Amino acid sequence: MQSPDSYWLATGPDWTTGGAALPRRTGVCVLGAGVMGSTLAYWLARAGHRPLVLDRNPAPAMGSSGRNAGRLIQGGNAQHALAIEKFGHDEALAIYRATLVNRDLVREVAAREGLEATRFPTTKLDLAVTEDEAAELKRTAGALRADGIAADWLDLPAAREAFGTDLPDTVLGGLHRPDQDAVHSVAYVRGMADAAARHGAEFACGITVTSAEPVAGGGWLVTTDAGQVIADQVVVALNAWTPRLLPELAPVITPVRGQLVQTAPVSFRIPQWGLDRGLLYGGQTPDGSLLIGGLRNTVPGRDEGIDLPEDGNTPAFSPELADRLAEALPSLLPEATGVPVVRAWSGVMAFTPDRCPLVGAWPGADGLWVMAAFNGHGMPYSQVMPEQLAERILGGRGDGIPAAFDPARFL
Ligand SMILES: Cc1cc2nc3c(=O)[nH]c(=O)nc-3n(C[C@H](O)[C@H](O)[C@H](O)COP(=O)(O)OP(=O)(O)OC[C@H]3O[C@@H](n4cnc5c(N)ncnc54)[C@H](O)[C@@H]3O)c2cc1C
Repeated sequence: MQSPDSYWLATGPDWTTGGAALPRRTGVCVLGAGVMGSTLAYWLARAGHRPLVLDRNPAPAMGSSGRNAGRLIQGGNAQHALAIEKFGHDEALAIYRATLVNRDLVREVAAREGLEATRFPTTKLDLAVTEDEAAELKRTAGALRADGIAADWLDLPAAREAFGTDLPDTVLGGLHRPDQDAVHSVAYVRGMADAAARHGAEFACGITVTSAEPVAGGGWLVTTDAGQVIADQVVVALNAWTPRLLPELAPVITPVRGQLVQTAPVSFRIPQWGLDRGLLYGGQTPDGSLLIGGLRNTVPGRDEGIDLPEDGNTPAFSPELADRLAEALPSLLPEATGVPVVRAWSGVMAFTPDRCPLVGAWPGADGLWVMAAFNGHGMPYSQVMPEQLAERILGGRGDGIPAAFDPARFL
């Protein structure tokens, strides 16, 4: 069964900028008009270049960027205390700091480009129902505070207050992090694409890329179903579809299905929340609808390593998983009992073995770059990684890309 459209696609603005024809030559060719490709085009265009963005869909944000929960959760894929154990303190802090720089950039760019209405403030509450997880979250609160980052462990009464509505007695407490953002995913990404186009980027949508091959003497031949273009540099920002162009990444990138359900609007506002180490999570849309996602651990082997549809944006939609998500909601949020579920949809995430994305140069190939596999967690990097990669593409240092994200680690 095909996925229905997401809330964001159903309520977002149409793409009115329109598509460019495929030129014969270009400077930088960006493959993919999700949040990563569109924002990279913005930073390249702001620096005075005219990047060409290609996407197989008729408009930007029709892949995962328009099907997510819109949450810009600061920090990497692992809680900070665990990230310190995994990567060492300096690298873990570099990853966390990148997402704080991202927060500031999102706010700065939204204000500059007239996208304020697409962004809304929120907080984050990671809830624990087991002693193990509570201990992990308490350690993370301490580790964050030691690094000067606002975070607190809240016991159940304080967590209830921060949540703004009741929580069941099974919750032991939660890690609270203030000053977070969420976006209307489609309005925000299409807004970034519009801003990129205003600054000189070209978007050629409805074009499927089939290969990118080096040209003798320099440059890249990009082959599409609408013809070929020669580019000085190519950036592959195709999320879980990246291995179609770069088959060496097939063993590295695992396509994972994600599903969300949306309720009718409620009268209370809640923070973005996570439970069971993020395997169940939620948030809220600007109009007050609750979003709840996850639970793929309850269907082992069905949602990880899925076959990607050849042309579609999502794997098959699972009504069974949507029902489970809808059923889980009142047991966590008693006040949501009886609130109807009005929509559910699926999307594709791209996971790597170490749960870090791939951002940087393709080793040994001059002018080939990759920015993909954000492990279900791309939005908190969605300005800073494109901005820093643009700097590298234009010959600068791009020091804000953590070393842990270097694609060379797998190649
Ligand atoms: C259900 C769900 C919930 C999520 N919730 C969150 C969240 O709350 N917060 C968060 O940070 N992240 C979340 N994510 C992950 C987030 O959506 C991704 O990390 C992010 O959108 C990745 O952006 P992207 O630009 O790399 O990928 P995409 O948006 O998927 O862009 C890739 C683009 O490549 C295009 N494409 C693919 N193949 C070709 C081809 N051959 N030729 C031309 N074009 C092609 C596609 O059309 C697509 O537009 C969620 C994901 C899902 C599925």
